[in-house]
Amino acid sequence: MALVLVFMGPPGAGKSTMAKKLVSDYGLAHFSTGDIIREKIASDPEFKAEFEALIKAGKLLDDERTKQLLLEKIKASDISNGFILDGYPRTVNQAKDLEEILKELGLELNGVIYFSLPEDVAVERLTQRLQCPKCGKIYNLASVRPKVDNICDDCGAKLVARSDDETESIRTRFREYEAKTKPVVEYYREQGLLYEIDVNDTVEANYKKLKDLVEKIKSKEIT
Ligand SMILES: [Zn+2]
Repeated sequence: MALVLVFMGPPGAGKSTMAKKLVSDYGLAHFSTGDIIREKIASDPEFKAEFEALIKAGKLLDDERTKQLLLEKIKASDISNGFILDGYPRTVNQAKDLEEILKELGLELNGVIYFSLPEDVAVERLTQRLQCPKCGKIYNLASVRPKVDNICDDCGAKLVARSDDETESIRTRFREYEAKTKPVVEYYREQGLLYEIDVNDTVEANYKKLKDLVEKIKSKEIT
C-alpha cells in the first residue's frame, strides 16, 4: 500500500533534509510545488510568460492551476511506494484540493508531519547556511558541513552564504509561516491526521524520531 505523507514546518526546520533521507529509505517519491512550478517554467515558454505576468501583477498561481500541475506531476511519476508532499497544502482550500487529488488517484492521506522548533534555533541554523551556487546543494555549518571548508562535496564549487538569510527576514518568514499555516494545521488536527515532531536536535536524532513515527503511521495504515 502506498504511503502518503504531508510535510509541514517553518523555514529552518530541516524538512528537505528529512524528506531526502525518508525518500531514500522508503523508496518514496517527493513532490514540492515550488520545484514543480520551477520545472514547468523551465520547460514551457507559454507557462513562463503567464507566470511572469502573474508575479508582475503581484499575484500567485491560483489554487486550481496549482492542483492541476501537481496532479499532472504525480500521474507522471512512480508512486508505487507512496510519496511526500512538501510545501503543499498551505491553506484549507488547498487541503480540500488535495483530498480530490487523492480521491482521483485512489489513495488516502496517512499523516501530516509538522516539524517544530523554536524561532531562535531556526534563526541560528539559517544564518549558518551555505549554498552551492552551481548545483544548489545546501550546507549548514551547525549540522551538514562540507567535507572541505567552503567547497561543495558534489561539484567542487566554492560555497556562498544564502543572500536571503538575514536575521530579520528569517524571523519574518518564520512568523508568517506559523500564522499562515495555522488554519490548515488545525484542520488536520481535527481529522486526527496531525503528528508533531520537535526537531530541536541533531539531524540524526531528528531523523530517528521521524522514522519511529513513520513506522507507527505505517502500522496504523495496514491494520
Ligand atoms: Zn555543488
